[in-house]
Amino acid sequence: MATIFSKIIAGEIPCFKVAEDDRFFAFLDINPLVKGHTLVVPRQEVDYIFDLSDKDLAAMQVFAKMVAAAIKKAFPCKKVGEAVIGLEVPHAHIHLIPIQKESDMLFSNPKLKFSDEEFRAIAEAIHQNWLNAL
Ligand code: AMP
Repeated sequence: MATIFSKIIAGEIPCFKVAEDDRFFAFLDINPLVKGHTLVVPRQEVDYIFDLSDKDLAAMQVFAKMVAAAIKKAFPCKKVGEAVIGLEVPHAHIHLIPIQKESDMLFSNPKLKFSDEEFRAIAEAIHQNWLNAL
């Protein structure tokens, strides 16, 4: 059975897309820790990120690096932090989180709520910076 992220990539479930190429896909986390919290996923359906081949894992990091640059331009921050958990959705993903301080990365923090319109504007701001860098 396809994972929820595969359904998002296939367009069967809506998302706020920020970037894509032929192997990877990036969209906003629907329960963001901070504004701009983004998930990077491989189109390939693999649960555990370290089950990806060395080549695919490296390519995913390079894709995440480009998305992180677009996030940082759209939402100036000290750094874009990266986290991998993967206990909830069995489809490998990297969390990219624009941070001002260490505690912005705490997954136990309360999640932010945005309207669809706000999510769309956040995704669009990152997407424009992604396009500008291509
Ligand atoms: P984890 O597997 O623990 O890394 O957590 C999965 C993450 O995916 C959580 O931060 C969720 O908020 C996020 N998530 C789950 N379903 C969706 C969805 N349909 N759209 C966007 N983000 C999602």
